[in-house]
Amino acid sequence: MAEENYTEEELYEMLWQKAEEIEKIPTAREINSDPFLPNYEVFVECFGNFRESEKLKEPVEKFSRLNKINVCFCNDCNREVCTGDIKICKENELADLYYDLFEKIVC
Ligand SMILES: [Zn+2]
Repeated sequence: MAEENYTEEELYEMLWQKAEEIEKIPTAREINSDPFLPNYEVFVECFGNFRESEKLKEPVEKFSRLNKINVCFCNDCNREVCTGDIKICKENELADLYYDLFEKIVC
């Protein structure tokens, strides 16, 4: 999928979907190891540095925040049941409560 041309909108959409899938802004490695995404360079050419990009302000804020809560969630996970996989850990019925409270307590 290397030499195709993408519109900014398409790239934005792909980046957003990837971020949703892994619950954080993808790194160069995560983008390049995904066969369904164009090369990381293609994104950088369009947006520049992700974290400094005005165009990516919304997803960067949203997914950085989500990732931060995810990390805290697993830090607080019961060690005996923690799977190390945030998606599995979050299936716990207390997860929703944790995320709700986190929004209210932190930040
Ligand atoms: Zn966990």
